[in-house]
Amino acid sequence: MKSSKEQHKNRRMELPRDVVVGHGAINDTGKVCKDLKLNGNAIIIAGSSTLRAAGKTVQVVLEDSGFNVDVAIVKEPTMDEVAKVENLSREIKPSFLLGVGGGKSIDIAKLASMHLDIPFISVPTAASHDGIVSSRASIIKDKTTVSETAHTPLAVIADTAIIILAPYRLLASGCGDLISNYTAVRDWELAHRVRGEPFSEYSSIISKMTAKILIESAETIKPGIEESAWTVMKALVASGVAMSIAGSSRPASGSEHKFSHALNEMAPNPALHGEQCGVGTIMMMYLHGGNWQEIRNALMVIGAPTSANELKIKEEYIIQALLHAHRIRPERYTILGTGLTQEAAENVASITKVI
Ligand SMILES: [Zn+2]
Repeated sequence: MKSSKEQHKNRRMELPRDVVVGHGAINDTGKVCKDLKLNGNAIIIAGSSTLRAAGKTVQVVLEDSGFNVDVAIVKEPTMDEVAKVENLSREIKPSFLLGVGGGKSIDIAKLASMHLDIPFISVPTAASHDGIVSSRASIIKDKTTVSETAHTPLAVIADTAIIILAPYRLLASGCGDLISNYTAVRDWELAHRVRGEPFSEYSSIISKMTAKILIESAETIKPGIEESAWTVMKALVASGVAMSIAGSSRPASGSEHKFSHALNEMAPNPALHGEQCGVGTIMMMYLHGGNWQEIRNALMVIGAPTSANELKIKEEYIIQALLHAHRIRPERYTILGTGLTQEAAENVASITKVI
């Protein structure tokens, strides 16, 4: 039997084959698909508004390139919606799927394509989180959101002219998700030292560098400026590559993500994933003894929330989430260890000005 060290060396890295980011990139969809030697039938998976924003254009462009295209309109990313796409696929027999949307459609396309054993292409209409590039699908199962293993997209086509038209809050949220790489990597290093967890130097450096570049570019990220969508999308792609190299979400998801998931369970009206992760990063950086002020300042400059008030979440839920966070995905060791005390939770939240 191989030692765990040898197995670690055998790991597979699944990366996208083609990444197109830029103004009008969506018009290259046909060419990208042909270059990837795709042919025949395709299904576009989109929400009703993302179909209008981008899906229709994707359909026309693909049809002009000789593809037969069907459309599946989806709502929430549930297993029922995944099954709906799979049933349609059994009828139409597509050679690939396209997820067109802010995240939900992409998650559904990702998981359905995995089950159907066909490739999928990610066409994000917003840059609100790193799921648009990664191999993990966030799906609602029995009323809770779970992260399912799926395939990395065969290609990512991100049209910055479309992404910049999405509400700015989504782009700012994407920045929060990226900045969280800082504490995620610290947690990973800690787990490596304390628990001997496999660690990838390359992956961690890419992940940290991505967050660093984003923080250094904070001043340039503004509503209505297409260059901002470009900056954030490039960072999301780099973060996705870091996850592909690691073969897990470890380089981009640590204690701050546990806090965000805990908030989703506790708070009646949670904020956006990246917004919560950004606030989580401020607090977890404090726990790590790092420069939490730098994180807070960057989020403020970008215009992302830095407090309970700005998240529109009551302070008591912040504390409850801090106390509960270590129970989320307990096998993933982080700075939260076996949990914070009430006093420690109140301290971290108040010192970092979250409450
Ligand atoms: Zn995330």
